[in-house]
Amino acid sequence: MSQTPIASKTIKKPSRCPLNLNKIEFESEKQKRAVEDLVQEFTVTPKLLIDIKNNFKEAMNKGLAKDGQTIAMIPSYVVGRLDGTEVGSYLALDVGGTNLRVVSVHLEGSGHITTHQTKYKIDESLKVGEAKALFDFIAVCVDSFLDEHSIRVRGDTEFELGFTFSFPVLQTSINRGTLISWTKGFNAAGMVGKDPVAFLQDAFNRRHLPVRVAALVNDTVGTLLAHAYNHPDTVMGVILGTGCNGAYVEEIPKIGKWTGERNAETMIINMEFGAFDKERSVLPLTMFDNRLDRLSVNAGKQLFEKMIAGMYLGEIARGVLVNLIDRRLLFGGQISPELNQMWTFETAYMSTIEADSTPTLSSTRDILESTLSFTHTSLVDRQIVKCVVELIGKRAARLSASALSAVLEHTGSWKQKSSIGIDGSLFEHYPSFDSDIMDGLVEVFGDEVRKNVSIGLAQDGSGVGAALCALLATKYSAGK
Ligand code: ADP
Ligand code: MG
Repeated sequence: MSQTPIASKTIKKPSRCPLNLNKIEFESEKQKRAVEDLVQEFTVTPKLLIDIKNNFKEAMNKGLAKDGQTIAMIPSYVVGRLDGTEVGSYLALDVGGTNLRVVSVHLEGSGHITTHQTKYKIDESLKVGEAKALFDFIAVCVDSFLDEHSIRVRGDTEFELGFTFSFPVLQTSINRGTLISWTKGFNAAGMVGKDPVAFLQDAFNRRHLPVRVAALVNDTVGTLLAHAYNHPDTVMGVILGTGCNGAYVEEIPKIGKWTGERNAETMIINMEFGAFDKERSVLPLTMFDNRLDRLSVNAGKQLFEKMIAGMYLGEIARGVLVNLIDRRLLFGGQISPELNQMWTFETAYMSTIEADSTPTLSSTRDILESTLSFTHTSLVDRQIVKCVVELIGKRAARLSASALSAVLEHTGSWKQKSSIGIDGSLFEHYPSFDSDIMDGLVEVFGDEVRKNVSIGLAQDGSGVGAALCALLATKYSAGK
């Protein structure tokens, strides 16, 4: 059990220990030039950051005006607001990344929340198999969760469940929608164009589970709600985990394509911004990004996400390292069998390497020699690895800053006190990701933004946030 007051936690993580390129004693001019070229390619200059921000704002406006645009700008149907006095018990189900989670959430009414949760690993074969099999597995997990936590139902009452399904879904009501496309390595057959809630409810019904799917929630929307529970000035919820995406509070008159009810002033928009710039008009895509995209299960899609999110950063770094090895500019041209396989260079290694402050780069050595089985690495090798990692990590944070600043400018909220809640292991653990984002915002808006906008870790947006969404959905449909 965890008592979770969902105030944003102070982030306790080491900061980046940056490398001074001038201090590297390169082995050759060619090696030095190769690193300098990488610096050129991977640096997001202040001008580029602002160009991307402007382009992103245009893409937002297009998505608000019409369906089927690059950034989908999906109305979430979430209109109610929270004040922290809400009480009740709800279930939340989080599907959309590395693990599946079932969470029971007890809202205690004074800003306090108790949660119980269990994580289940989704087998790779289920991710790309038949959709029905995937949802039957999910129902089995929920069933065993109810058993495990001795959750009993009295009479005919059903549990209301908030279903966090973090894929692009065109929402048609608070608990209906159609899947636009799979992302993040999922590709289960027979789902695109269908309603994931119907699949889930059917799977529950097949097992006679007393659970009703009350709300279909994107994790970004849940993150926004979870953060707003303790920070009423929250304007945006962001995910920087396996994937990347954001949601923000929009004024309904500005949503040109909205044809539904207009009895509220604002609605949360799930942007689906990982899809930004599929036209390749502004993103500084390198050959390493293009290679990763080509080899991914969703080639040509989610290009922005592939430059930012935790699923991909390690693989981009691996691509760069292998290229240097092939040119005999790193590790004497020798590769280890581990590094020769895709996805072996984890993004978590990058966090460790970024934080490595030892003069000999000993944690970097541990990763290379113990984890990745390189028999020998020189100091220069390790410095080059650290430099590559820094370039890719910093680029990801600065690209995130261009998206956040586009939203802050679009809404004008950078001029007043506002909070942004961010969930996801990348943001939580990657050294200096938060300060790199803030530095990017300062380049766009000036120092004032530092005083006005606070960026915090919103823990469990997809659990607590989904439960809060189920609560709002129930309240809303009861007409309260
Ligand atoms: P999800 O997005 O699936 O809900 P998480 O928020 O836990 O899950 O994000 C998982 C992603 O975070 C993985 O892609 C992983 O590479 C990355 N990640 C995990 N640990 C770290 C770390 N220490 N530093 C940087 N990235 C990490
Ligand atoms: Mg998550």
